[in-house]
Amino acid sequence: MQFDVVTIFPDFFRSILECGLVKRAQAGGQLRVALHDLRDFAEDRHRTVDDRPFGGGPGMVFKPRPLFRAVEAIKSDEPEAAIPIILLSPQGRLLRQPVVEELSRRRRVVLICGRYEGVDERVAENLATDELSIGDYVLSGGEVAAAVVMESVARLLPGVVGNEESVEQDSFGLDGISGREAGSGLLDCPHYTRPADFRGMTVPEVLLSGDHEEVRRWRRRRALEKTWRKRPELLAGLDLNKEDLRLLDEIKQASLPVLSREG
Ligand code: SAM
Repeated sequence: MQFDVVTIFPDFFRSILECGLVKRAQAGGQLRVALHDLRDFAEDRHRTVDDRPFGGGPGMVFKPRPLFRAVEAIKSDEPEAAIPIILLSPQGRLLRQPVVEELSRRRRVVLICGRYEGVDERVAENLATDELSIGDYVLSGGEVAAAVVMESVARLLPGVVGNEESVEQDSFGLDGISGREAGSGLLDCPHYTRPADFRGMTVPEVLLSGDHEEVRRWRRRRALEKTWRKRPELLAGLDLNKEDLRLLDEIKQASLPVLSREG
């Protein structure tokens, strides 16, 4: 898979491309990232990419021409291909795990990073095929958002995450992409490692028992419990089986306040 990133700060990406999983994905040939300096597509000798907004007001706006030229250059080697052109924007559709999964099936994706007051609206309307937001807050630029998109997608590319990590059991689950098992859509269960007793804080006995079926049931119960406590709205969209519904019922019962004698 290839990401083409259009930015005025290509150097911003150097460290994330040279660390951890994203580096591994590139080394393994699953991921390629091409950085395109927007200023290379400006047409004046000052390499201007922004201008004052029509109608007045504060800040600067990215001009349409350099962005159109950048994307046209990126697409020039395969003009007929349906390549998603994604404008990072706080006004875009929210980047949630199903969107990440959807992107991970694409062969090539263009990411446009805005700055300042944003980008001339004609880019959103006539150049971008999609707008993505990483959350309901405003960043100074799209670079952090582009890094979030690339890292979340890279971990879903086949062969990038090895046995030392698990994609299937991660929070929010998976819909079974790339021949992997489908996930649960729940938040992940708690994890512990050695020592079993750290300053009096002990690990749940069941995890030391060696009873795989008991461990599986405990993990499922804890994943359900975490989801119910932290993100109850996620449960509504899930297809829970009989065992899950029974466990959920137990969890809810156990959390009911115990009535005092007087009460
Ligand atoms: N004036 C714009 C608005 O209120 O919608 C915000 C512009 S913001 C300061 C500059 C750039 O940062 C945006 O063009 C976008 O590329 C990026 N950006 C800011 N917040 C973002 C978010 N939550 N998700 C994705 N990109 C974001």
